[in-house]
Amino acid sequence: MAHSRAMDAATSRSEGAPPGAEPGPRASLRNVGICAHIDAGKTTLTERVLHLTGRERHVGRVDEGTSVMDWMSEERERGITITAAATRVQWRGCEINLVDTPGHVDFTVEVERCMRVLDGAIVVVDATKGVEPQTETVWRQVEARELPAIAFANKCERPGADVLACARGARRAGRGGAAGVQRERDLPEAIADEVDVLRAELVDALSELDETMFAIVCDGRTPTPEEIERSLAVLVRAREVVPLFCGAALLGHGVPRLLDGVATLLPSPAEAEPPELFDAETGAIAHEALPEPLALAFKVHSKLRRGQRSDLTFVRLYAGKVEKGSRLWNGRTGVTEEIQSVLRIHASDVEHIGEAYGGDVVALGGLRTTGTGDTLTLEGGRLRLEPPRVPNPVLGVVVEPVRDEDRLALRDALEQLAREDPSLRTAEDPGTGQWVLEGMGELHLEIALARVGDEFGVTPRVGPPRVAFRESIQAAATGAGEVDRSYGDAWGNAVVEVRVEPLDDGAADVDVEIGPGARADAGGLDAPSARAVAAAQRVEATAGPQEGPPHSGARIVVEVARTTVSRGLEAAWVQAAVAALRDALRSAATASSVVLLEPRMAFVVESPVDVASGVIGDLNSRHATMEEILSTGTDGRRIVGTAPLRTLIGYSTDLRSLSKGRATFNMRPAEHAPLAGEDLRQDFPVGR
Ligand code: GDP
Repeated sequence: MAHSRAMDAATSRSEGAPPGAEPGPRASLRNVGICAHIDAGKTTLTERVLHLTGRERHVGRVDEGTSVMDWMSEERERGITITAAATRVQWRGCEINLVDTPGHVDFTVEVERCMRVLDGAIVVVDATKGVEPQTETVWRQVEARELPAIAFANKCERPGADVLACARGARRAGRGGAAGVQRERDLPEAIADEVDVLRAELVDALSELDETMFAIVCDGRTPTPEEIERSLAVLVRAREVVPLFCGAALLGHGVPRLLDGVATLLPSPAEAEPPELFDAETGAIAHEALPEPLALAFKVHSKLRRGQRSDLTFVRLYAGKVEKGSRLWNGRTGVTEEIQSVLRIHASDVEHIGEAYGGDVVALGGLRTTGTGDTLTLEGGRLRLEPPRVPNPVLGVVVEPVRDEDRLALRDALEQLAREDPSLRTAEDPGTGQWVLEGMGELHLEIALARVGDEFGVTPRVGPPRVAFRESIQAAATGAGEVDRSYGDAWGNAVVEVRVEPLDDGAADVDVEIGPGARADAGGLDAPSARAVAAAQRVEATAGPQEGPPHSGARIVVEVARTTVSRGLEAAWVQAAVAALRDALRSAATASSVVLLEPRMAFVVESPVDVASGVIGDLNSRHATMEEILSTGTDGRRIVGTAPLRTLIGYSTDLRSLSKGRATFNMRPAEHAPLAGEDLRQDFPVGR
């Protein structure tokens, strides 16, 4: 990999905080992600940026499979960027951490996690296609994270490219767009008039939002380029506008200007709002000062070298300092991790830096148990950066080793994958010796299983995909449980009453609440018993009341907890509480208020017009609900809708043969919805 060592030395000297200065987020730092629909040109743009900023002499071409940002062979083969890596470049006095966000829709969980560590985003749009559905998803995420963003209309040199249409599309997608011309030198005569009109439109748009610009316009003055830039910088940071830069990443056109935009318009971590903190135990938002040090692991990358597994853990540092030898506490695993190296990553090249400060994005070597989404902080810290919820998987496969001697290797592989990507879940069934691997879609699982073979050297036997159904209660139900027996030397007596009610916020989690009548001051549960009861009820609720798949979206309120003995016994409380919950779920099932939920996927199919009717007919036979059918370009149709995941298994193969490989599609988990009565009887007879 071409790489300048001299430059490394120069960079590492400037890495730490200057002597005597307060370590902390620096104004010259940028943490930016490039977000895009697949094929919009994100990888090509990243390559160009690396080339321009001098980090990479040879420009990798995605088409040749030489891209330096794509670490893994899997990605090279598929030509898509699946895992995120961060790389550091310098431009106009700014140090830019480019965080590569995965583009495929199956990995939106990972995109969201990467977004968390950013202070700004570059959204790449294919100028020949306009604002595509996936880009709209990306916009929504940029919006949800409240990230200042700039956009890049790529492939502008191609016939049919239409930057202004992209700008209109972006406006439709719900953001203020500021398309126009900022400044250009040596403009060709032929377009001078058009440029003047666009510049006037830009100034007009800015003056509507920015008082300073408004005053300049009222004075009848033409704003200078610097004044336009300043106005844009204010409005981008306030997320009032998203300026649209244009160019062609493949040819390097417009890329320097885009980097100028990153340096001047996007904020540094020093300007960022402090991140939200959560109490690790209760999940409640904690309004407290940031502990030091504080870091979020947003990507774990494992490599197997000479039989030894070594991890690189990408972290965003929010506060404090980390250095070689620092000890960081991982509250989820309860392990103190010792940092063996602090690294700056340039694609697959690694540069050792001694230390790093709040605001930076670096990779840490030597962590043993930390997984994606974990918070690292000072010993015993009970605050965390991620809420303890992860999305529920929608599809699973049963996995088992072909040879018995591969059993341990397979378990290691599956556990490692789940550590790197928490939207993958794995559980062993001790009865059958099989594992269930669950994820967010077919491609997600397919890639994970390919990695098991490639990186861990085990090729497991894989069963057919199984949709992750859930059960849900539709109305509140109550139940009671009582125990009265000896526990060794002690006598335990406990009466517990619970109410179970559906959670209507769409979350699939089970919340447990200890009501006033069950608390210690009412003669009920002391704090350790309350924790034990809540944990036991959560475990009990993982099996639904009727068929057995996991329970979904319920709140359990422990309303009463009484005892006749002087000191309540934890084991008795737990046993009575579990019995009460079972009783409540039984009565919910008897009252027929339990429904079976199935995952539905939101899909977008892009099809040539001549095969569109066939595609639509096929979707109908899959019980799809079509929401929108749009014309795209001259001869394309975009079909947007939702369908039960169980009808979409194998869809990519079917669509390929239906359209002779000319239609493409994306899907993502949308919701868990009740199985319709008809489907329920035909496909899933209850009580089978
Ligand atoms: P990603 O999936 O967003 O990472 O997109 P890639 O960078 O892999 O690019 C997708 C395809 O678009 C590749 O075939 C690129 O060569 C091509 N491409 C990227 N940028 C440009 C551009 O500026 N002009 C043209 N004509 N093609 C481009």
